[in-house]
Amino acid sequence: MQLKNAECVQITILFLNALQDSDMPQSPALQYACKNDFWFLPLGGTGEIGMNMNLYGHNKQWLMVDCGMGFLHEGNSEKRITADPAFIEQQIERLQAIVLTHAHEDHLGALVELWPRLKVPVYATSFAAELLLNKLSAVTWGHAVPIYTVPMQSPQQIGDFEVTWLPMPHSIPEASSLLIETQAAKVLHSGDWKMDANPVVGPSFNRALYGLLHSYELDALICDATNATKSGHTLSESACYQGLYQAIAQAPQRVVVSCFSSNIARLVTLAKIAKKTGRKMALFGRSMETMVGIARRLGYWPNDLILIDPKHIGFLPAKEVLVVATGSQGEPRAALTKLSYQRHPWLYLEEGDRVIFSAIKIPPNKVRIEQLLERLRRQKLDVIHAEEQKGTPLHASGHPSQDDLEQFLSLVHPKALIPTHGEAEHLQALAELAQKQHIPTVMAGTNGDLFKIAPFYKIEKHFAKTGSLEILS
Ligand SMILES: [Zn+2]
Ligand SMILES: [Zn+2]
Repeated sequence: MQLKNAECVQITILFLNALQDSDMPQSPALQYACKNDFWFLPLGGTGEIGMNMNLYGHNKQWLMVDCGMGFLHEGNSEKRITADPAFIEQQIERLQAIVLTHAHEDHLGALVELWPRLKVPVYATSFAAELLLNKLSAVTWGHAVPIYTVPMQSPQQIGDFEVTWLPMPHSIPEASSLLIETQAAKVLHSGDWKMDANPVVGPSFNRALYGLLHSYELDALICDATNATKSGHTLSESACYQGLYQAIAQAPQRVVVSCFSSNIARLVTLAKIAKKTGRKMALFGRSMETMVGIARRLGYWPNDLILIDPKHIGFLPAKEVLVVATGSQGEPRAALTKLSYQRHPWLYLEEGDRVIFSAIKIPPNKVRIEQLLERLRRQKLDVIHAEEQKGTPLHASGHPSQDDLEQFLSLVHPKALIPTHGEAEHLQALAELAQKQHIPTVMAGTNGDLFKIAPFYKIEKHFAKTGSLEILS
């Protein structure tokens, strides 16, 4: 279905909603793209947040982009889930490889669970490859996974797909968009991105590089819609320094900051602030230690920023303590939860110590985050949350807002836009924005829909059966 105006987008979304509860038709088994075809088929992450899993099809071959995990919330319990790969498993001999855009769990977190069913090579840049190797070291068959580490801006021939990783600022090192070219069409899969002029770690948004794509006449841009409902520009990662500096410098006693463990730039900012304010910084939480270990090995951690052994931090004077802890989402086993129950083996927080949340409250986690905040405040700790704080920011998102998206669309100006990485409202917001930008074809759909990009634009609804599986490993 070719959509030409906002009204059509609205109708499409309504149509999808109407079908949500009805029986899905069986997927046409073993359908594949021929040599003049170029298809996009999301199995996860389009119409929901998390578990990104996408397929591109051309000349009887498929390429998988990302293999991530998500969460299923049922009451107070939470299950880790992945998109069901059954569609591609039925024609596994056609799957050329899995290529990864970046190292966030919603993009690679299901690979260890699913690889034994897929058994194809994995291509990733160094940071994601290192994290994957770390995960695979926990399973006996991990050594069997062929992992190809790819440099940025160096085209890789994978079957009949030529794939080039292009650098994108985000909230983890080495995030990338993918330029995917075939005989039939060429597209840009944006991955997660933001238009950051000063991302603290890694290169800034490369306007010149993406500007080149304008003359490239991309057949489609498959674009991150996470923040498409938010007006204005997304803050630069560097904008967090001032707010965090003030909040830490003015604290009279210990400071604990909780943020996402993969945000190396935020951790570097905090280590710089520790140095400037005469505090010693330690990391609490295994995932944070793993991430920083990889950042060090790959040269993303400045050598002059010293971290101390977390076991020693409890012996320091209160004014010298800066702990960065996992658990900003209230995760039950995270370091901050243990600190909130005074059950952490290395540190006991006292009245007047400050706890700073340098993160958002992700909607499904809000109840347990509020419970965590309440527990900390009951102990008379001085709690500051980025979302409750007015004035200088303590957190910056890793995704583009409306003004960034508009600029990107006018910079790249693809022939078609397909929103991904978001719930229906985010996808629709990006679709409407693209209409206003006069992108000739806008196709909004959901997991399981087949987006035909060549030889002509068309959506085939419910082409593949989709669903989710619980991650047990
Ligand atoms: Zn993501
Ligand atoms: Zn991401």
